[in-house]
Amino acid sequence: MKSKFIHTWKQAAALLLALMLLSAPAASAYADGEALDDGSPWVDYDLRENVQAVAERPESPNDDLYLYVNYDWAKGTEIRPGYRSESSFTIVSDEIREMSQAVLTDDSLEGDDAALVQGLYKAFLDWDARNALGVEPVQKIVDEINAVSDLEGLTALFCDKDAHAGQYVSFGSSTGFNDPETYLLSIDPMGLLLGDSAEYAERTEMGDRFEAAYREAAAKMLPKFGYTEEEASEMLDRAFALETELAGGIMSSAESMSPDYIQKINNEMNPEEAYALCERFPLAAIIEAWGYGAAERCVVSQPAYLEKLDAVYTPERLEDLKNYLIVCDILDNMSVLDRDSYEISVDFGNAANGSTGSTPDEEVAFQLVRSALMTPMNRAFFARYDATKMKEDITRICQETVDYYRTMLAEEDWLSPETREKAVEKLDAITINAVYPEKWRDYSALTLEGLSFFEAMTAIGDFNTAYNLSLLNTKIDHELWQFDTLQTNASYNPQDNSINIFRGILGGAFYREDMSTEELYAGIGSVIGHEISHAFDTNGAQFDATGALNNWWTEDDYSAFLGRAQKLIDYYDTMTAFGGYQVQGQNIQTEAIADMAGLKCMLNLLDQKDDVDYRAFFEAYAKLWARLNTRETEYFCLMQDPHPLHYLRTNVTVQQFDQFLEAFDIQEGDGMYLDPAERVLVW
Ligand SMILES: [Zn+2]
Repeated sequence: MKSKFIHTWKQAAALLLALMLLSAPAASAYADGEALDDGSPWVDYDLRENVQAVAERPESPNDDLYLYVNYDWAKGTEIRPGYRSESSFTIVSDEIREMSQAVLTDDSLEGDDAALVQGLYKAFLDWDARNALGVEPVQKIVDEINAVSDLEGLTALFCDKDAHAGQYVSFGSSTGFNDPETYLLSIDPMGLLLGDSAEYAERTEMGDRFEAAYREAAAKMLPKFGYTEEEASEMLDRAFALETELAGGIMSSAESMSPDYIQKINNEMNPEEAYALCERFPLAAIIEAWGYGAAERCVVSQPAYLEKLDAVYTPERLEDLKNYLIVCDILDNMSVLDRDSYEISVDFGNAANGSTGSTPDEEVAFQLVRSALMTPMNRAFFARYDATKMKEDITRICQETVDYYRTMLAEEDWLSPETREKAVEKLDAITINAVYPEKWRDYSALTLEGLSFFEAMTAIGDFNTAYNLSLLNTKIDHELWQFDTLQTNASYNPQDNSINIFRGILGGAFYREDMSTEELYAGIGSVIGHEISHAFDTNGAQFDATGALNNWWTEDDYSAFLGRAQKLIDYYDTMTAFGGYQVQGQNIQTEAIADMAGLKCMLNLLDQKDDVDYRAFFEAYAKLWARLNTRETEYFCLMQDPHPLHYLRTNVTVQQFDQFLEAFDIQEGDGMYLDPAERVLVW
């Protein structure tokens, strides 16, 4: 549950994340030179066809800084086969991947971590062994589901840890909102095939595309399990029909981006109270069978979902319930079966993301290893690449930024002294997690020797399940990081008041040892400033210095904050991206606020130095956001991502500052001009 509220630096890509292993991101379906797709006030140059339609690099940045800085890169860049985007982020993640692949392929490495990650990497790439097994590992699961003849049998299947069939609820130890120090039991809805529950009430082009991609995959996958193509189509119809009933109880993506979301899902109760939400669905039996019956407290994020689930858990719906499990168990596993199934998963990813072709197997194998064996992969990486100096540097910059925030908060005269004092208290309590942790989770009980790829993945799943169960009711150990530090990202976690700057972002335009001060501040500096500001945004305001859900703002100050945020929302709402699609100010407010606060912080730090080249600073900042997306991915980002589109993250953010207007002599009438009275800075 934790991950839903951690503010990351770039798109979390909730839906796309699931697809990452199937296929990474892509080439556009649109031909070069196609007519410009006009947005307002700027054209969306995250789209390659729009860049291609521009004959020459603009002479000045005065109308569009983003295009001016990134034109040459964008014009000369193709989205690679299997990718859905190229960006300053993928440039750094390529570096990290190449370094990691050197770890994965070096036979001279010793130790448990190297053995684990290399073992899984080799097993993924052992197509002979995978092909010899074919779809048999999933056939076993399908047979178990088919053998169920009544609801009692279905309940028994859900209670059987060794069955490895899917579940209708997701449960496990996680951090609650009221007490940030103790693991409780969380009970959440399962994921939906179309991702966003809103798709089941009102379909968008994204839902249509995903449904079509699933239909294509099902038509190829289900016959491997003895179903005809016609049956496959009917099975998918039934699966979507059941999801449509259940989706009514699941909050939409838009609702999850709303400031009152946390209040809505913070339904803490005793396990007995949770069990009482279901009359027919065997929640209590499943929770107890999996060992979580000893939970002292639990949080049910979406009670309405349990109600919907309860309504369909009847003997009359047994076949629908079984059908859904079969469809999902087959589609969820296609990428970890034989070559043919894997290729179907690649086609699925391409159809869903607008990508074409496929990523090299070795890249996919690395992505899989890092996600399945996060700690061993991270630890093996640092065993080979010393990052002591990097950790010192980043920690120091974080500390400088925190120190500056103290001054910045003191100057916010729209806040009462009372709220300002609380803000500084929270600032002083921020934990800085930079580059790598001092303590790691113990993996010594896991061995993958002699296992097939599918068996290895199952063994890892069982190992993680046992670990998660061991956490229940215990105190949270904050020294253990719960994230992959090789990801090209950074985050703020309101539930432990920490900023997290990962190793995986420290390269390219973000951080190099030989960077100028301007580049450093525009790069990782603005990232750090951005993350800290999340402690004080619409969500962060709801959590106190300890990470407990506890609003520390006075009512007047919070409503003043919301008023300032509304001005920003209204400004973004006036914009269209492409194809007439409007920007959703409400969804991106916290991230847009953070971008501006981060930049303001860095500009103020620069103002204290001599001979600053502000043009270099703003150009370096615009480079940070260089990006090309497939149109499908851009649409996804526009509708589902809490971050503004990259060209807007650049242009809207910089136009708020005098230093920008002065550095480039931006005048009224220029595309980049914003009347100072119309500025939407919250901080
Ligand atoms: Zn953020």
